[in-house]
Amino acid sequence: MRFDWVTRLSLDNLRPLLSLLSEDLAIDLGTVNTRVYARGRGIVVNEASAVALDDSTGEVQAVGKEAKEMLGRTPRNIRVVKPLKDGVIADFKVTEKMLSYFIQKAHQRRTLVHPRIVISVPSEITQVEKRAVTDSAYRAKASEVHLVEQAMMAAIGAGLPVTAPGGNMVVDIGGGTTDVAVISLSGIVYSQSLRTAGNHMDEAIMNYLKRKYNLLIGERTAEQIKTEIGSAYTLDKPLTMEIKGRSLIEGIPKAITVDDSEIREALSECVSTIVSAVRLALESTPPELSADISDRGIVLAGGGALLKNLDKRIREETGLPVCVADDPLCSVVLGTGKILSDFKLLRRISVE
Ligand code: ADP
Ligand code: MG
Repeated sequence: MRFDWVTRLSLDNLRPLLSLLSEDLAIDLGTVNTRVYARGRGIVVNEASAVALDDSTGEVQAVGKEAKEMLGRTPRNIRVVKPLKDGVIADFKVTEKMLSYFIQKAHQRRTLVHPRIVISVPSEITQVEKRAVTDSAYRAKASEVHLVEQAMMAAIGAGLPVTAPGGNMVVDIGGGTTDVAVISLSGIVYSQSLRTAGNHMDEAIMNYLKRKYNLLIGERTAEQIKTEIGSAYTLDKPLTMEIKGRSLIEGIPKAITVDDSEIREALSECVSTIVSAVRLALESTPPELSADISDRGIVLAGGGALLKNLDKRIREETGLPVCVADDPLCSVVLGTGKILSDFKLLRRISVE
């Protein structure tokens, strides 16, 4: 009798009780942004994936937004590192430091029991990188760590019925990669990760202004231009913006005014690459699932989904319904947050 009672006290049975005491975390480890969701509290960290390091001592000077603000403005001994590049971990050590910092930040108050942490990672990361991410979460005192794929989380976060038999297509346009995935029955049927996404759009704008106006601008200005007047399809109302940079000819600060059609031209190659990837995914999807997709349409997630009229452009080129997720920048972390309370699904889809 007593023995029976003890066996029933296995970890699985205790879990609901333990989870009342701990505060489980869901983390979206993105190339540009990292977000943390705490069960019961919602999104508690929403920061840039960046760390400012003192080169001479190796000490961390700033993490997140604060580090991003320093970009292009640092003295010689300080270096701003973006530890994730093109959807892969380019710098293990710095990723680990950043992750621990965000986990500590999410736990402002001490919890009684160490938390379970679910981290959504880019689909292309290697075993070694997975290990590095998992280890850093354990070092930050996690009791249990699970890794899940960002594309699947984006679909869950956008509210798609991923467990049902039926094709769902999600296009997650982040900073480093655009991930196109077709999901059915909790599994990924097709996926492709392109290295054309938000950062490349920023670079395209920088190159365009350099070529056309001999104007040199920084990354942050390029991003601002993209979010304010960038678009993928003719706008109803034209937009203009004054841009300040450095003239390559005179070497002094200079201001010019650009309009949306110029920025659309600058972005056209990136946008075409994304559209082609969507078309390729449609062509490579088994016919039953593509029939579902043509009924349900395509969901866009990630910050790039906010590029003006990108949905319209994809709709025009595929003839399918296209919609933008409610909160595209947060789809992945919200999906990962949902998974925190669904053990069965978590077991089925975790990738470690
Ligand atoms: P990641 O998951 O790779 O960290 P996010 O999904 O957080 O990326 O998206 C960040 C990208 O989205 C950045 O490149 C940013 O410039 C871009 N972005 C954010 N808002 C907009 C907008 N309104 N229009 C176009 N791009 C945007
Ligand atoms: Mg992302």
